[in-house]
Amino acid sequence: MSTEHLGFDSRAVHAGRDDLTTLGVHVPPIDLSTTYPLPTVREGGEAYEHMGGGFAREAGQTAVYQRLWSPSVARFEGALAGLEGAEAAVAFGSGMAALTATLLSCVSAGRPHVVAIRPLYGGSDHLLASGLLGTRVTWATAEDVASAIEPDTGLVVVETPANPTLDLVDLRVLCEQAADVPVLVDNTFATPVLQRPLEQGASIVLHSVTKFLAGHGDVLGGVVACSEETAQHIRPVRAITGAILHPLSAYLAHRGLQTLPVRVRAQQDSAQVVAHWLDAHTDVRRVYYPGLEGADPAGLVGTQMAGPGAVLSMDLGSFERAAGVAESVRMIVHAVSLGGVDTLVQHPAAVTHRPVVDEAKPGAGVLRLSVGLESAEDIIADLEQALRT
Ligand SMILES: *Cc1c(COP(=O)(O)O)cnc(C)c1O
Repeated sequence: MSTEHLGFDSRAVHAGRDDLTTLGVHVPPIDLSTTYPLPTVREGGEAYEHMGGGFAREAGQTAVYQRLWSPSVARFEGALAGLEGAEAAVAFGSGMAALTATLLSCVSAGRPHVVAIRPLYGGSDHLLASGLLGTRVTWATAEDVASAIEPDTGLVVVETPANPTLDLVDLRVLCEQAADVPVLVDNTFATPVLQRPLEQGASIVLHSVTKFLAGHGDVLGGVVACSEETAQHIRPVRAITGAILHPLSAYLAHRGLQTLPVRVRAQQDSAQVVAHWLDAHTDVRRVYYPGLEGADPAGLVGTQMAGPGAVLSMDLGSFERAAGVAESVRMIVHAVSLGGVDTLVQHPAAVTHRPVVDEAKPGAGVLRLSVGLESAEDIIADLEQALRT
């Protein structure tokens, strides 16, 4: 059954499963093959050239080798592309591998200059600031992107909501500023449940699959959703650098998509309760959450984003206070990452954003909280006892 006519939640459940009834199975088979039989030398060579050149495998064609093509990865890609409203998706072994391949595709096209808007995820900031891939970065604000663009600018990179301040960027304004330069939006925090950047004029959507999409803390992965033409430039980089997602991880991520809408909404409901409780707490200096009054002056929640999401940050005033709370939680887990079924807390400045230059580093008193599926009362009770100690 084709899923195109279905609503978002129904597509999340059924996408990438169209052929299962024909196959006589209820869940997708996992294909762990690293290599595939070649019917003839000529057909093998042609398939190698076809997929090595960035084209999607054609029906009946041998997949040749897992680094070029994996049926299990392709299932997840098709499902995710549908949810983002993209023609194609290309999946990687991590979010950073997805960003790396996208940047390398710009470098190889002779457009190595990147305009980036801070704050970004610490790893993305580190990769761009290092120049490791041969890119050159200009840091800009959303409003002055147009003046930062140079003749060899290949990409504008933005994250909204951003990590860890939850700043929102108006994507329509940004995409107008960027004009012909493709805009990459890191949509990890919002997920396609709350925000679909391609509808706002962006060209590429990036996810750390590790977070909400897979959602259970057992998959490391990344994906970009884009036009088929852009995908054809990114797939050869993935093949050459060997960055494809593992088929078992693809299966788990694909399964994660089925519950993504209900998980994101339930986690968001609790995050709103927790954010308001923290906001009223006398020991909390400031709460960063787009759902709080005054936190979204441009009115993007309800327009660009369907809701404020399930991640928030809090400023406890000092490193000692913040570290004390992170180290005192009992049910909540003190760990990096986010978007899973369990609530996680971490200190961005000291851990995930450690490589970021001081002027762009989050405050020493800031903790980031990814709200999970536990009851809001239990999350609050744990935070309350941690704030007391
Ligand atoms: C985690 C994260 C990344 C990097 O993804 P990995 O899967 O850890 O490589 C990129 N962007 C954001 C917003 C993230 O949270």
